[in-house]
Amino acid sequence: MYDTLIVDGRFPDFDAGALVPAEIALEGGKIAALLPPGERPQARRVVDAAGKVVSPGFIDLHMHEEEFAGDSRRYDISEYMALQGVTTCVGGNCGQQNHSMARFKEILAANGGAPANYILLAGYNSLREAEGLGWYDAAPEAVRKRIQSRLAEELAEGAWGLSFGLEYAPGISEEEMTRAVEAVRSFDPFVSIHFRADCEECMSSLEEMARLSRRTGCRVQVSHLSSLAGTAHNMPQSLAFLEREIRENPLLGYDTYPYAAFCTGIGTAVFDMDWREKWGVDYDIILLLHPPYAGRRCTKELYEKVRRETPEVNVVAFAMDEESIRTAIAHPAGLLGSDGSISGGCLGHPRAAGTFPRILGKYVREEKALTLMEALDKMTRRAARRLGLSGKGQVAPGMDADLVIFDPDTIADGAEFTDITLPNRGIDLVLVSGAPTVENGVLTGALPGRFLCRTN
Ligand SMILES: [Zn+2]
Repeated sequence: MYDTLIVDGRFPDFDAGALVPAEIALEGGKIAALLPPGERPQARRVVDAAGKVVSPGFIDLHMHEEEFAGDSRRYDISEYMALQGVTTCVGGNCGQQNHSMARFKEILAANGGAPANYILLAGYNSLREAEGLGWYDAAPEAVRKRIQSRLAEELAEGAWGLSFGLEYAPGISEEEMTRAVEAVRSFDPFVSIHFRADCEECMSSLEEMARLSRRTGCRVQVSHLSSLAGTAHNMPQSLAFLEREIRENPLLGYDTYPYAAFCTGIGTAVFDMDWREKWGVDYDIILLLHPPYAGRRCTKELYEKVRRETPEVNVVAFAMDEESIRTAIAHPAGLLGSDGSISGGCLGHPRAAGTFPRILGKYVREEKALTLMEALDKMTRRAARRLGLSGKGQVAPGMDADLVIFDPDTIADGAEFTDITLPNRGIDLVLVSGAPTVENGVLTGALPGRFLCRTN
């Protein structure tokens, strides 16, 4: 007697390069068996997947975890993760980590779990800020040493790696960053980097990240390539560089998200320089997300007022071109991540809610920029391998029963810039360790997700 039997569906067999029919039996949170079509052993629950794809759960390589405030136990972002078919997400990116590993684990344990599994990176910028350093400050040697020992503590607590947000803290020199990675080299950390600067400095930013990987021998992930190279038409030369570099050093990689607009704090260093000149745009590319201006585009006066009065709020900036986004998603060297975040439950960027169904609907089915198998491989098997996450990313006996069942003919994102709560379409069932987190597009309230500790 199995726990669950998923019948009449097809799963992606990446080695065969095709969707293959099978009856999929789940037991004890794992995939127990793949049976020939038509074979029907007994199960407590039978799921009809006729016409549907039974995929490994999507792995979001780049998101921003919740900032739990006080006693708040709201899963602002991971509920949106589950609703788009994500079963494991990687937070602590762009140098920003909202809680220590110990605290985050404690919160999850107190809640009895989460809507999705979490992997967290230690955020270098956050550790730097805790030392009282300003964005533009250089770090004295004694302070560097303290940050490095905090990094080691976080890695020992189960962090999967570390992240830098160079654009947000220009004071982090390449040398400081390299020393920090070398100091925790023995943990074999996954290192994700938000670039130093875009536009005319796009290529030198890529070169800096490539050098870090070569010098330290660590995996280095160029975060959200779309927001680095999607402005100022730098994508073709960026992809040519990455393709060449990754061929020589497979420890380097990148991820990207499927929207031609980015989202960040209006008070951050991103807006310190003359960005209108740099991107060749005007104030109206900025969409405000927070009351009382939610949904409004900026004028010069409004931009200056909001930046002065509420520098902490996030804004959306329509600064990239669509062709760049498409080629970055389709390129065989690249992987995918939402870069999603929700601040205070307010309107946010739709990438937090719609990234994965958008790739499968818009870029696979409608625009045919990549095939369904290529997209699923990036979202699952290749993402798991990149992280060194065994037990996930494939539909095979013995793998974790993290699955998403969707209709390839109808899957589509619902979230819009003015309303990210609009539902996705075509996602029937999402399972984490065999337990349903989403059924017929609605959250079940189950919290089977866990904090995944890095195993050395
Ligand atoms: Zn970032």
